Amino acid sequence: MDQRYSPVQDVRRHHRRLVLRSLRDDGPQPRADLARRLGLSATTMTKVVGQLLDEGLVAEGAVEGVGQRVGRPSTGIQIRADARHVIGVQVGAGTVQLGLCDLRAQVRRSASFAFDLAAESPEQVVARIAEAASGLSADVPADRLLGIGVAAPGPVDPAHRRNVLSVNLGWREVAFADLLEAALGVPTVVDHNVRSMALAESRYGETEGADPLLYVYVRTGVGAGLVIGGRPFRPGAYGVTELGHLRVLEKGRPCACGATGCLETVVSEPYIAEQLGRRPSNPLAELPEALLDDLVDHLTTGLASAVNLLNPELIMLGGIFRPAPEPVFDRVRAALRAKAFPVLRDMVRVERPTLGGDAGVVGGASVALDCFLYEGRTCG
Ligand SMILES: [Zn+2]
Repeated sequence: MDQRYSPVQDVRRHHRRLVLRSLRDDGPQPRADLARRLGLSATTMTKVVGQLLDEGLVAEGAVEGVGQRVGRPSTGIQIRADARHVIGVQVGAGTVQLGLCDLRAQVRRSASFAFDLAAESPEQVVARIAEAASGLSADVPADRLLGIGVAAPGPVDPAHRRNVLSVNLGWREVAFADLLEAALGVPTVVDHNVRSMALAESRYGETEGADPLLYVYVRTGVGAGLVIGGRPFRPGAYGVTELGHLRVLEKGRPCACGATGCLETVVSEPYIAEQLGRRPSNPLAELPEALLDDLVDHLTTGLASAVNLLNPELIMLGGIFRPAPEPVFDRVRAALRAKAFPVLRDMVRVERPTLGGDAGVVGGASVALDCFLYEGRTCG
């Protein structure tokens, strides 16, 4: 337990998070509906809502479409999305994207920079992230910036402060949270990039409550993130699901991880660029038929394993799949059906992501929002 808070204060903080989460997940609603839904007394609700109104985190007013008769909007509570902000950061292979996001993880302002993987150390890149974040939030009062969420390219430590390993960047033990907090004085949390994307879609996307939700991000490699029962899946010490390193080819080419024949050696942007002899702008729209067939075949071999092991209700395919033509998705769906276990293949949907903005930026922001506002301090 956090020693700065008494048990009474802890209960209040718990109630406050319950109310904020319900307003986020169930939408604007009258006080009475909130109280009923959360099982809180009218007195408690008055206290909690009063505090949230004082802090400017919620507003009370006419709310349409909350179970009232047509033309008679009722008075309801809703989150003021622009009341606070977080900064989401996506660290990729040679690029960093940042976004100043509101309480619904919408990107309000963004920035990015390229870095030279060979010439710049991780610490130098983090110093540039601090500079960019500082510029992005220059006109946000310090008490309105809740924190920073870094979507890191690989496993993170259990305390969510370090990126333990990135095989594609060749980085180890990058202490993003310590370095950014020291530079900016803003609370920082670090999570696996694709798990953070899955979290963002689960919290703020149009997923129709799909559970489990598996997010697969194909770009430099193939990353995966899973949300089960509304919670990011973090197995073991590092909480990583390494879909990209499932072996799909015997005697395949060597992978950055040290093994051979891994999924991401034949399903990734660099592989497609190599096959095309150029860097494509929309890789899956530009691949010749035979190469697309092979790619879909390998990808669905990996996805079928994920379906058979994890039984996801929804697979979101992001990264280079996001702008892919719909027929590419149809091919993936058909190939997956042919490989996955009967009952499981009937329930899984394969769709493209629904949130705007850069997926990792929105992901990092969602982790920060969970950690610093909606879920609590532990971020676990
Ligand atoms: Zn590998």
